[in-house]
Amino acid sequence: MEKICVAVRVRPPAPELSQENGSSLWKVEDNRISLHKSLDTPITTASYAFDHVFDESSTNASVYELLTKDIIHAAVEGFNGTAFAYGQTSSGKTFTMTGSETDPGIIRRSVRDVFERIHMISDREFLIRVSYMEIYNEEINDLLAVENQRLQIHEHLERGVFVAGLKEEIVGDAEQILKLIDSGEVNRHFGETNMNVHSSRSHTIFRMVIESRGKDNSSSDAIRVSVLNLVDLAGSERIAKTGAGGVRLQEGKYINKSLMILGNVINKLSDSAKLRAHIPYRDSKLTRILQPALGGNAKTCIICTIAPEEHHIEESKGTLQFASRAKRITNCAQVNEILTDAALLKRQKLEIEELRMKLQGSHAEVLEQEILKLSNQMLKYELECERLKTQLEEGRRKQKEQENCIKEQQMKIENLNNLVTNSDFKMNQSEDFIISRKTPDGLCNINDISDVTGTPCFKSASRSFVVARSNNYSGLSDFSPMVHSLGDVADEDTWMKLNKGFVADLDQIQFTPAVKCQPTPLSIATTACPRENYIEVEDLKSQIELLTNDKDSLQVKFNEQVLLSNKLMQEMSELKQETLTMKEIPNRLSESVANCKDVYKDVIGTMKSLIADKESPTANLLLGTTEITTSLLSTLETQFSMIMDGQKTASSIDHPFYDQWETLRVSLKNTTTSFLSDAQAKDEFLNCHNKVASLPLLSRYGSILLIFLVVLLGYFVSLVRTLVQ
Ligand code: ADP
Ligand code: MG
Repeated sequence: MEKICVAVRVRPPAPELSQENGSSLWKVEDNRISLHKSLDTPITTASYAFDHVFDESSTNASVYELLTKDIIHAAVEGFNGTAFAYGQTSSGKTFTMTGSETDPGIIRRSVRDVFERIHMISDREFLIRVSYMEIYNEEINDLLAVENQRLQIHEHLERGVFVAGLKEEIVGDAEQILKLIDSGEVNRHFGETNMNVHSSRSHTIFRMVIESRGKDNSSSDAIRVSVLNLVDLAGSERIAKTGAGGVRLQEGKYINKSLMILGNVINKLSDSAKLRAHIPYRDSKLTRILQPALGGNAKTCIICTIAPEEHHIEESKGTLQFASRAKRITNCAQVNEILTDAALLKRQKLEIEELRMKLQGSHAEVLEQEILKLSNQMLKYELECERLKTQLEEGRRKQKEQENCIKEQQMKIENLNNLVTNSDFKMNQSEDFIISRKTPDGLCNINDISDVTGTPCFKSASRSFVVARSNNYSGLSDFSPMVHSLGDVADEDTWMKLNKGFVADLDQIQFTPAVKCQPTPLSIATTACPRENYIEVEDLKSQIELLTNDKDSLQVKFNEQVLLSNKLMQEMSELKQETLTMKEIPNRLSESVANCKDVYKDVIGTMKSLIADKESPTANLLLGTTEITTSLLSTLETQFSMIMDGQKTASSIDHPFYDQWETLRVSLKNTTTSFLSDAQAKDEFLNCHNKVASLPLLSRYGSILLIFLVVLLGYFVSLVRTLVQ
């Protein structure tokens, strides 16, 4: 731990003012500066002691020697170092840091000194990089590369705080650096104010990165990297004094603000460690860049410049107070040794080694071999590329063929389905003819197929088709489109959250195992495996063949059925014809009965006229027979007319009707028999007593008539029975 080294330098009074006032108000004694009244009496409240106090006569050489030299040397040893000048505008900051041709400032002296020092250290090798930047209006610009504007500050574990994109020049000697500084000076922002004709309007930071390592390889491989910052701040100013307006005013505000933040940082750092709160390094780019130098790992010295003029007393006092606080800050500087590849020196060493190796192997033969090897490799890649292209083309062609094939198969299946549907429809139409073939539930029995000769069974065909398909799918159970187990998809909790519109934090999500999403057979056929495609296509083909056979056999059966149907239709029409003919019979019979009735009436009438004795048995017989026959014929007429009118019912052929007929027939038979026996007795009597010639003739006519009637009645009865059945 060491305190920041703080010095105060009093600028010589401006030439015109020095002539007016012979003596300065600021008296310097050793390392103390105090304010005196014009009568040379000290003002006790305005006396300050610092590490060094330089009066007007001091030179940059002495300042460097006493204040900065140690820090520069320490930087060469591996310590970070910072030196910056602080003070009001025109107090001599730039003069101190940059100096003049006759009296170079701290920067130039440091540069020379660094290289002198390096040359003195023989056991180490060094690599120096330099950069030069300015902070103008709170923006970092690269003074060595004007295109690098508005650069950003970053922080790295190994490199610490650094300005990204800042150009770093690797330099070999002091002169090279000085030239770079001169070129950078051109790019600085200067402006004219009332107080300084050539006033710095920006903070400038000249930075040297010194890397070194021991030349002896056997020693530790550690590399020391130190950063040396030499800062020339823009001066704090009172707007009224500087007479600034417009751009100058804006610049002044930025300058004052950043210096105020620097003051805050110094204030906080000057408090004891216990009282230290947050250090606002990040409030300005200046403090951020100077962070290691202020309360960090660096050796730091501050040169506070004051103007001796009386009208600058207040600013000078402020500068001295700032310096007093800075004096209390302690840093903890240590040598920066690194063992990583971050060191540019190490990286460059390796690169040099590689280049050397390449240089050694850069003979023509080696190069030729290398080229040959490379061209061979290229040829190989090209061939591989061609092969892959061909494979790709072939694959695409095959895929297209398969797609076409599948399309064709699908169309065929569709056509077959249509055919089957049509056949089904036709068969339904002819179902009336095949009722006997159906089972009670109306479906065809599959087992009947073998013994069916003429009745096609369509449903059996479609069922067998379905069975065949389902068997195939059961064989391809891996292709089921259903997820096997939902347990593999996502846990219940996740589902619940998703369903309730829960927006998950993607970083928190633990992915569930991938879903085993099985492709469908069709997608497999079209995309994945040609072998399985082939099997699927073959399977479809065989099914189609099966269906075609079924269809053919069904067609044959259908044709047979149509023929059978035609034959039956013909038979039906013949039967209808016969029926019509049969229906005519009762009509004719009725007519015949009517004719018979008329004939019978004529016969009876004639017979009645022939019989003289109206009370004789013959007359009684005739009367009885007439009644029976008339009744019989009337009944027959009624029956026939009923049949003709379509009233043939079971009720009409009931037994009483037959019984009536039978009764009539029996009574007729009995009457005839009694008549015959009666007539025979009468005949014998007449033959014996009266010898009447007409009676035998009458008996014979009556007998013939009765026999005729009995036969006729029997015929009608049998005829009616036939019709009724
Ligand atoms: P600042 O940078 O603080 O604004 P400068 O360094 O530009 O002020 O100084 C302003 C003027 O004073 C310059 O002309 C400079 O040459 C002169 N000057 C400053 N300090 C000294 C010094 N110690 N010896 C001689 N001249 C000086
Ligand atoms: Mg300046």
